[in-house]
Amino acid sequence: MAPSSSPHIVLFPFMSKGHTIPLLHLARLLLRRGITVTVFTTTLNSPFIRGSLTDTKAIVIDLSFPENIPQLPPGVESTDKLPSLSLFIPFVNSTILMQTEFDLALQTLSNVTCIISDGFLGWTRCSALKLGVPRLVFYGMNNYAMAISEAVSISRPHAHIDSLDEPFTVPGFPWIKLTRNDLEPPFNDPNPKGDRWDFVIEQVTANMQSNGFVVNSFYELETKFVDHLNAGPGPKVWCVGPLCLADSPKIVQPQPKYKPIWMEWLDEKLSKGEPVLYVAFGSQAEITVEQLREIADGLEKSKVNFLWVVRSNGLEYLEEFKKRAKDKGLVINEWVDQVAILSHQSVSGFMSHCGWNSAMESICAAVPILAWPMMAEQHLNARMLVEELGVGVPVLTKNGSVRGFISSECIENTVKELMEGKKGKEARENVKEFRDLAMKAMDEDGSSSTTLDLLIEEVCWKN
Ligand code: UDP
Ligand code: UDP
Repeated sequence: MAPSSSPHIVLFPFMSKGHTIPLLHLARLLLRRGITVTVFTTTLNSPFIRGSLTDTKAIVIDLSFPENIPQLPPGVESTDKLPSLSLFIPFVNSTILMQTEFDLALQTLSNVTCIISDGFLGWTRCSALKLGVPRLVFYGMNNYAMAISEAVSISRPHAHIDSLDEPFTVPGFPWIKLTRNDLEPPFNDPNPKGDRWDFVIEQVTANMQSNGFVVNSFYELETKFVDHLNAGPGPKVWCVGPLCLADSPKIVQPQPKYKPIWMEWLDEKLSKGEPVLYVAFGSQAEITVEQLREIADGLEKSKVNFLWVVRSNGLEYLEEFKKRAKDKGLVINEWVDQVAILSHQSVSGFMSHCGWNSAMESICAAVPILAWPMMAEQHLNARMLVEELGVGVPVLTKNGSVRGFISSECIENTVKELMEGKKGKEARENVKEFRDLAMKAMDEDGSSSTTLDLLIEEVCWKN
């Protein structure tokens, strides 16, 4: 029987920008459908979340992040702020200490119909069970990466391959060739074991026992992979994206009174009719000083215009370069509105680490990608963007490997290829087609909107 009042969905994003931003977009889509939305977070992450939802009726509840965890520095509640990603697993594992507070807070809410929580918060499945409601997983990954990670983990096609750069075929996907370097530890290990593997198994188990996956992607982008997953024994995948289109670009945003420096700079390039390459590697990637300098060198030699967003720990090494390159490039270190940058008419290429949000945002702005994956499932995203979709050009090392030091010469050449070459032109044409499909998917009767309606009906009204 349908509940009398409106459904109430609890969202619990993981504590990093890349995992939080898409769920905030999802919150908007749910609110627009008359659903009550409560977002759980922690004290230090709360201002960002509250700030992003001020114009909505979303409820935000702050939990206390566990204190005094031996490995973790005090005052850090986001993986974006960890001094090193080697602390990622202790960070994730410590989140379970919020369970009691989370469970108590859930009991104070009325009419909760479903919990949608991040794949790294596997313990929230037990909270949902106790409450007697379904838990859906938000994975932040696309279906291509999920399907391939699953196939490789189960069949281990790389079990007898020593070289990290020797191609092998992915079982079930005969047209896809990977190397062990495309996989992140522990997946790249032919015989994985130890803490990292136990961590993966624990999360995957909780997620596979959950009631579905909410995916920031759309059916038309990766049909074969969605169908593959939905034909398998795992929970159903629901493609409801690109979530960055939740704030429809068709609504003209009022111009802010104060124009950020990068916006002025892009406007100036546009007025001169000069295309710009946007360079950014997300909020997590760790780049060595040598590699930063090589990027600077490569950008300078390519002679293209560039807007480069550098994380604070890199900026000090680029001061001289910043001055020297100022006619061609702007190097900044601040939180930018990446979606606004990508949508700016002057931006016609994106050198990206291929974080899935960045990739979706680039596709939605019809900007082709210079794919330079760094970690997590980014190498798979890069393969998908370049080989499946044809919307990008890859950055490779001198010996053709997808991982390792990239020379300034390679950066110069691939930047030119993307901005001025034949491959860049093809990618630019292809990405426009996917942009159009993405917009359609998010239209009222498009595949992603319809999927979200069905998901709500299934989890909120049938349970
Ligand atoms: N982002 C932003 N401004 C910044 C840096 C990042 O808006 O200065 C956003 C970006 O648009 C994307 C998210 O942060 O939505 C980063 O997610 P992604 O998956 O691309 O990479 P991650 O940071 O998780 O590696
Ligand atoms: N903050 C913090 N630790 C965290 C998360 C946030 O100290 O784990 C602080 C951060 O230093 C800043 C504020 O909370 O003063 C907002 O942080 P956020 O990451 O949202 O934004 P940014 O670092 O880009 O300003």
